[in-house]
Amino acid sequence: TVYMPTASNKRRDLKRRKDLKKTQVTTPRASYRVVRVEGQITVGELAKQLSVKASDLIKKLMIQGVMATINHNLDYDTATLIASEYGFETENSTRTDEDVLSEFKKSESGRSNVTTRYPIVTVMGHVDHGKTSILDAIRNANVASGEAGGITQAIGAYTVEHGEKKIAFLDTPGHAAFSTMRARGAKVTDIVVLVVAADDGVMPQTIEAISHAKAANVPLIVAINKIDKHNTNIDRVFTELTEHGVQSEEWGGDTQFVKVSALKKIGITELLEAILLQAEVLDLKTPVDVAAEGTVVEAHLDKGRGPAATIMVQSGTLYVGDFLVAGQSSGKVRSMTDHAGKSLTSAGPSTPIQVIGLSTVPLAGDKANVVADEKLAKELLQRREQIARANDSTKSSAQSLDDLLGKIKTSGAAEVSIIVKADTQGSVEAIVESLGKLNTPKVSNKVIHKAVGGISESDLNLAAATRAIVIAFNVRASRSMEEEAERSGTTLKYFSIIYEVVDAVKAIMAGKLPPIVKEVIIGHAQVRTPFSIPKIGLIAGSAVTDGKITRASLLRLVRDGIVIYSGKVGSLRRFKDDVKEVQTGYECGIAIEGYTDVREGDVIEAYVLEETPATLDS
Ligand code: GDP
Repeated sequence: TVYMPTASNKRRDLKRRKDLKKTQVTTPRASYRVVRVEGQITVGELAKQLSVKASDLIKKLMIQGVMATINHNLDYDTATLIASEYGFETENSTRTDEDVLSEFKKSESGRSNVTTRYPIVTVMGHVDHGKTSILDAIRNANVASGEAGGITQAIGAYTVEHGEKKIAFLDTPGHAAFSTMRARGAKVTDIVVLVVAADDGVMPQTIEAISHAKAANVPLIVAINKIDKHNTNIDRVFTELTEHGVQSEEWGGDTQFVKVSALKKIGITELLEAILLQAEVLDLKTPVDVAAEGTVVEAHLDKGRGPAATIMVQSGTLYVGDFLVAGQSSGKVRSMTDHAGKSLTSAGPSTPIQVIGLSTVPLAGDKANVVADEKLAKELLQRREQIARANDSTKSSAQSLDDLLGKIKTSGAAEVSIIVKADTQGSVEAIVESLGKLNTPKVSNKVIHKAVGGISESDLNLAAATRAIVIAFNVRASRSMEEEAERSGTTLKYFSIIYEVVDAVKAIMAGKLPPIVKEVIIGHAQVRTPFSIPKIGLIAGSAVTDGKITRASLLRLVRDGIVIYSGKVGSLRRFKDDVKEVQTGYECGIAIEGYTDVREGDVIEAYVLEETPATLDS
């Protein structure tokens, strides 16, 4: 929440100031103060807002093991920690990308004609099963039907017409492209075509592709390819896919299976029709007459024309002359061409177009947005840079389990995604089964991919896209894969004993539960003489009869065995001094925050709330 000087906030501040007068003795004046942090804050700025010397702050940071200079940026958590030591609260006033954009979008709402858009398709499957051949067959069929010029250029995506309708294909087959994009937060694909060679059947990358599509919640259409070959076994393909949770409609499942031959151009029309049918089920709707939004599919530096980026428009319409922000790049759209090299002045939803005019080459998976002007573009870029920098500095190298627990605790969702890679099918099954038994109604784990084998790039992409933990059981990742895991902040853990896997996952799951809060009574005091001090209010002159009363404790006022008030200690004094605690046998003056009707003979019960981490069984 961002601190805004609204009427209700002002009232709250006024009230706080009034309360403050009453309990001036012990409430530090700063307690209602707020430090404004915009994602991060320099040591100098924090010192200024806390009204302390920067050198003091630097010392304090040093004690906590942070070496910092006055210009050093502190992240929000560190700033909060430091500020709290000075009795300050922090408020993160970062405006996100979305905040900035949604303001702009609001300004143009009212012009939002929603239409059905064409589906965007990615082709996946095991190597050599025919992904490229199928993409070519689809494209060529289309060119033959009279597409302008017929000279297609590779821009990373293309559209084909089928009857009255269109389909957009991402031209980089394989799940690497799909999952790297997803790992970067982009969701472009509506439908995945899973290619399985009829003579080869389900292979490791087929299974990976299924896991990727499922994790992304994208529907599959199976294309059984190479049916022209003589050594095919289509029934086997059906069975193997069923074993991996992909069941054909013919077999009572909900996935369309199409038999094709990319070589002999058999079944291509049927495949396109299956895609359009699936698209109809998905009912893809999007506004057309708003500022365009899309994703970068491919980008490179063109010698003559500068940065060239293929953008898949996902909503709105992109026009030549629009001001575009794509990832960390921006610029005015100078020209747009489609895959056939035709130049366009506008491009609607589900249209991939190559854009010239960006200042630098963006990355595949970057979000692209049209903005009102250069000023807004600059603001967006600055924020993205800031976020990128913050992410870099917080991405720790080797992650400990504790780090992980902390991270998961703040993420909120009570589900842990897991990828299991092991040395044998037996261990895979044993681990998955043991993990399944850990699930409780409050927190559960979900194995999103399991397979025999070492850690592949695809595993790490999937993990990054779904924030899953990778469990490597008796298998290892290569050094480069370990580095990749570190870079993407993915947790990769090695095990060789099943119960250790179970214990680790148990701990991670428990970390997602809120801590158990227990009330502990720490002492009682009996009120002897209530008296009033001007400007401070009513003080209960009391004697501590057992345990102790502390300044930080919560308390209950008990009269004749009945709790008549619960609250906080407003001030705690011995004679004229404020004290932190008073032990049994001593007398003290206690002010109860917000309560003045204290009488002789009342009992003040002091307690604290203790937090213990939850366990799965609690
Ligand atoms: P990718 O690695 O999945 O992109 O597979 P490719 O499209 O490169 O195809 C791999 C090999 O299978 C090539 O030699 C193709 O000629 C061959 N191939 C692809 N589709 C068919 C098909 O329908 N029938 C036959 N017989 N061969 C095919």
